Amino acid sequence: MSIQSPTSLAVDIGGTKVAVALIDCAGKIVGECHQFPVPFNSQTTADTPRMIEFIRPFVDQAIRLNQNLLGLGVSVCGPVDADTGVVLMAPNLHWHYVPLGEMMQKAFGLPVHVSVDARQAALAEHTWGAARGLRNFAWCTVGTGYGGYLYLEDRLYSGSHSSAGNFGHITMDEINGHPCGCGRRGCFETYVAGPAIARQGQQAAEDGRSPMLVQMAAGSPVTTRMVCQASQAGDPAAAAIIEQVIRLISINLGGVVNLLDLDMIVMGGGVVHSSPDFVDRIQARIRDFLMTDEAKQDLKVVKETFSNAPLVGSAADFFIKERIPLIDNSDKI
Ligand SMILES: [Zn+2]
Repeated sequence: MSIQSPTSLAVDIGGTKVAVALIDCAGKIVGECHQFPVPFNSQTTADTPRMIEFIRPFVDQAIRLNQNLLGLGVSVCGPVDADTGVVLMAPNLHWHYVPLGEMMQKAFGLPVHVSVDARQAALAEHTWGAARGLRNFAWCTVGTGYGGYLYLEDRLYSGSHSSAGNFGHITMDEINGHPCGCGRRGCFETYVAGPAIARQGQQAAEDGRSPMLVQMAAGSPVTTRMVCQASQAGDPAAAAIIEQVIRLISINLGGVVNLLDLDMIVMGGGVVHSSPDFVDRIQARIRDFLMTDEAKQDLKVVKETFSNAPLVGSAADFFIKERIPLIDNSDKI
């Protein structure tokens, strides 16, 4: 029997679901990935002690099965002080200054490292994914929100207040724009993220421009996924919405590349996965907005490697911070 290589229990706390998986130092999931809904208390705040009790059986099992568990790597859908493990703000969980790292460390008696999900996803791509070996790249997600994380000069770049990478909150129209989740108005995200796509699809259905969306929705609100599917199926109104999203994202990311001179943009999120040709179209279209011939020639826009990048990155983050050597599994991907 081979000796189990060191493992970390990776935990990804999203706005509605928590994913848990044991991951070894080659980035491989040992066993299965499990999911459970975020437990909320009566004040609609995510219940941290209950969440910890939901995670406990996975820690116990790894110890019982001698799976060489060294500790926990955690990702959260909001900014985290990575040095202290305090979640600064997670609007979907109604968390403000929750000392999650310390609470988990006390509960399990193991080292715990916590960071924001976008950072963990970028780290996964750099450690074991598409951006391996690159010095400058951005990770970008198009889903409920739009934004990402930066990796510059061969290191993760978090900025002075751990809030770098918010290219979705560049203001486009503060007067007539739609309200944004950040509390301001007319951010770039309100033109291209999932809710903007659904809103425009709903409008197209109501205006009688898209009989296909009317049929798909069957009386319910039009969803982002419906617009993506209708676009793929050739519905002109839905196709025009997606085409506009691709144009705007190409302009936005083209600006990011002109500003930072990146090698690659790795894209993930629900919208990217709902449209098979989304990334290829950005890869082609972004050329129109790049300033230098070098960028036009070299820049790659690719789809993310992992379906659960924050989870995989949480394990990478744990091993790196604990100085456990990582195994490069590049020949296996
Ligand atoms: Zn905003």
